[in-house]
Order: sequence, then structure tokens, then C-alpha cells
Amino acid sequence: MHEFGRFFLPGPTDIRPDILAAQAGPPLPHRGAAFEALFASLQPGLQHVFGTTRPVYVSTSSATGLMESAVRCAKPGPVLSLVNGAFAERFADIARACGRDVTVLEAKWGDTVPLEQVEAELRQRAYAGVTVVHSETSTGALTPLEEFGALCRAHGALSLVDSVTGVAGAAMQAEAWQLDFVFTGSQKALAMPPGLAFGVASERYLATVHEAPARGRYFDVLEFEQYVHKHQTPNTPATSLLYAAAAQLAYIERESISTRVARHEAMAALTYAWLAETREALGVPFCIQAREHERSPTVTCIALPPGIRGDDVVKGALDRGFVIGGGYGKLKATHIRIGHMGDHTVDGLSLCLAAVRETLADLAS
Ligand SMILES: *Cc1c(COP(=O)(O)O)cnc(C)c1O
Repeated sequence: MHEFGRFFLPGPTDIRPDILAAQAGPPLPHRGAAFEALFASLQPGLQHVFGTTRPVYVSTSSATGLMESAVRCAKPGPVLSLVNGAFAERFADIARACGRDVTVLEAKWGDTVPLEQVEAELRQRAYAGVTVVHSETSTGALTPLEEFGALCRAHGALSLVDSVTGVAGAAMQAEAWQLDFVFTGSQKALAMPPGLAFGVASERYLATVHEAPARGRYFDVLEFEQYVHKHQTPNTPATSLLYAAAAQLAYIERESISTRVARHEAMAALTYAWLAETREALGVPFCIQAREHERSPTVTCIALPPGIRGDDVVKGALDRGFVIGGGYGKLKATHIRIGHMGDHTVDGLSLCLAAVRETLADLAS
């Protein structure tokens, strides 16, 4: 039996044993009433975590599948990409791979691209869409999105939002924030097994989807839209993962999304307080990569002082029974990341942080 509470990677995240067990449901014909009932049962929970009344698509793929959908099915024209970390860079790369002419607005890794800069660029040129990563998992930065959708709309562009480590851990109001395409993956703050992606498109996004030059088939938003109303998936679904999703969404409903977000914020606050104490106790300058007030509640990226290597910290934590993340991309050697998302608790996280502090004390001495 899997022991929950030792796996603090910023994705995939730890999964409760009852959710792992829920995957063992029976096979079902996917064009039939029992499957449609299962599929329909996911919708209220998914709409709740996305903050939408629109139907939520379920893709049998990791989140990258819907990153591709987002740009591929957007109306024709150039794409503006806000790049402040590895996943934001990947989003821009995917847009290029889908044949878009991509302009990049860059921020230092750990920062976010200011809205004023986005506005200035949108004034310069007519963009079809703007890609942004809500919670940048490589740096722990959270881009505020409350005004982002409206800004894109004012300039005729679609807002395309990677909220893979946002949804179900950070506040998300896809509809109220006027976002046009928002997606996540099952294995991050939703704390489900990997293999599903969830996404929601606005009416506005759908209004021009038929203009997209080559939507392909597997990740075609129009197919998702047509089938979701029948409570079906376009192709054979990963039914066992849908059983797990149903169980976990019921659990999230019981917790309530506001309590869930507050728990994530409490875990993030604990991590910041722990880091300040650790810095003081060891006399070593560790610091948080993202700026205050722009930090994700689901992941913290910590810059290590010269002489302490990310790999060694990860290994030391593992020797003490905890899995944490190393730095990602160009921050690999010099940073570590703690994933405090999903179903972890403040008490559980404090055990992990104690083990990391012991490791840092060893390595700093
Ligand atoms: C994990 C992650 C992805 C990629 O998700 P996959 O499920 O591995 O395809 C994309 N964006 C962000 C911000 C992520 O954290």
C-alpha cells in the first residue's frame, strides 16, 4: 500500500491510496449510459475548480496535449508569448511547432511579465492569441490573471492560459476573469494519477475555432466541444483514470475549493517562514526565486547559496525519506523546488521541511 505524505515533487504529486484504488473500476463501453453517467458526474466538480459554467473537456493525454490544442485551434494569426520560465518557454515553442509566428515578451525567471508591457505590445500589432503560464512550476512565480483576459479581449486577442499547477491549488475564475482557454493536468494540484488533461474554452474562443488553419484531430477543440455535450469523449477514454477523477473531484467538493486554496496558501506561508528560520539558523543566504506577492501557493523554488548543489539536497532529503524536486531547466544545479500542492497538509509538509533543513545543515557545515 502506498504511504501518502512523502512525495513533494511539484508534479506529479502524491496520490491518496483511496484514489489509486478507485482506478480499479470495471471496463465500460464508452458509447453507453453507464459511461455517460460517469463522465457527466465529473462536470460539476471540474466546473467548480475552473470557475466556469462552461463544459470542461477531458483529454486522454498529459497537459501538453491541451497546450497544443490551445494554440492549434486558435484563430489564425501571430501569437504573443509571455516567457518567464521553462514551461512558458515550452508554450512558445509549441506555438512555433504549430506554425505560428511567435513574439516573445521575456521576464527574468522568477518574475512575471508586467501587464503594462503586454498592453504596449498588443497596441503595436494584432495578435490572434497570448500565451501565459499562471503558476510557473520551474520558478514558483504566479502571474496575476484577474485583468489579463479583459486586456486581451480589448485588443482582439484570445487569452491562452496554462494553469497546470494553478487549477485546484490557486484561485482560478476562468469565466469571471474572461479567459478564453484554460487547461490543467490531472497529476498536479488535482492530485490524481497522471494521464488526463482538463480544459475549458470560452464562447469567444469557439466562435473562431473553425477558422484555425489545421486543427488536426486528436486535440481538436471543436471535437471536444461536440462530444462533451453528449457526455462522451471523442476517442476511447482512459476509463480507469476517470474513476479516479470522479473519486477525487467528490473529495475536492467536500473540502470545497476555497478551503483547498486556503490550505495551499497556508502551506506556502509555512515554507516561507521555514526558509527564513533556516537562513537565520544556518547563517546561509537561501532565497525564494519568485518575488513577494507574486508567488504560487503550489510550488516554491529556492535558490541555493554557492557551494550547495541542488542534486545533493534532493538526495539528502531522499535519504531521509522525502522526495522533493530539483531545479528545472537552467536552474537545475542551483535550485530546489518543493511541491506543496494537491492533498498535502501543513503538518505533513512540516515533516518534509524538517528533513530538508537537516540536509541543508549537513551540506552547509
Ligand atoms: C507539468 C506542467 C506542464 C506539462 O504537463 P504534462 O502533464 O507533463 O504534459 C505544463 N505546464 C506547467 C506549468 C506544468 O507544471
